[in-house]
Amino acid sequence: MGEFELIERFFKRNPPPAQAQRAQAATDSEANQGADAGRVVLGIGDDCALLQPAPGQQLAISTDMLVEGRHFLPSVDPAALGHKALAVNLSDLAAMGARPLAFTLALALPPERARDEAWLAALAGGLFALADAHGCPLVGGDTTAGPLNLCLTVFGEVPAGQALRRDGARPGDELWVSGSLGDARLALGALRGEWALPPAVLAAARQQLERPTPRVALGLVLRGIASSAIDVSDGLAGDLGHILKASGTGAVIDTEIASNMIAACTHHTWPESQFDSETRRRLALTGGDDYELAFTAPPARHQAVLAAAQAAQTPVTRIGRIEASPGLWLAGADGQRSPLAARAFDHFG
Ligand code: ADP
Ligand code: MG
Repeated sequence: MGEFELIERFFKRNPPPAQAQRAQAATDSEANQGADAGRVVLGIGDDCALLQPAPGQQLAISTDMLVEGRHFLPSVDPAALGHKALAVNLSDLAAMGARPLAFTLALALPPERARDEAWLAALAGGLFALADAHGCPLVGGDTTAGPLNLCLTVFGEVPAGQALRRDGARPGDELWVSGSLGDARLALGALRGEWALPPAVLAAARQQLERPTPRVALGLVLRGIASSAIDVSDGLAGDLGHILKASGTGAVIDTEIASNMIAACTHHTWPESQFDSETRRRLALTGGDDYELAFTAPPARHQAVLAAAQAAQTPVTRIGRIEASPGLWLAGADGQRSPLAARAFDHFG
């Protein structure tokens, strides 16, 4: 199968992508509605795709690359890989409060994968299931032989001036996170043989690792409410550090709440001896691969945050507070504080 046949068979769709889903999306919540497929003037097949953002909207653009052996194990389920490749990119749009418009896919494939039709079909299946759920069509890309590597670029739109940025946190703001933290790292450790997990715990955690839910709906409803936002890809401590640096502030995280952010632990019987609260806290705060949103909002908007989260059907937890003095701290109920290194996972660190 040549390059063009491969694109034609697995990545170019007829009828043009989002169209079929538009009727469905229109009935979904505001959250899941993709932008009007009419924004895509021209998709796959020419030298460039053409997008037409709506008047008054800014384009939000983000690229994320997934490399075999680095971001996923060679044994990964191809459908899960397709899902995750797009999910991590949509997560960036979510963190800016942007609505997904379209994406491109640059794909390097080893020859044996390019011949494996079942593998390609599963990859495309996982990719397009999530793309359709967000009304976000594939409009172009590049395909080459090479070590397995997926590089996606997503395009979104956000009303001019309303993007959720990293530099807007203010002292006194409440610090929130969506969903759970640490589950992906918990699963990764089990798959790597660092520890053993009961099957039900592993299954729940593995879902977070392999099929993260991009919090697009939440990002949209937080516009005008959140003062800053980021998506948690490298662990909360490190990613929150980016907000603190950009905003020129510090933060304090509630020790007790942080210890209970791993959903797989709270919903299943937990081997407490193996994972004490200190360990659970470390997984939750530095684990990475969560793809949740961390965001700040003034305390006066506390109820607005809860109402927005409910509208987006996304659980949120107030996990701490922004402070004027720099630094990141953990604080217990007794007020006792300990410093927390605001360090993110660094590929070259
Ligand atoms: P060019 O040589 O102009 O870069 P290509 O021959 O690489 O064009 O690609 C032909 C068309 O197929 C282009 O519209 C391109 O965007 C699209 N395309 C190539 N690879 C992919 C892919 N993996 N997914 C989606 N579209 C692709
Ligand atoms: Mg090309």
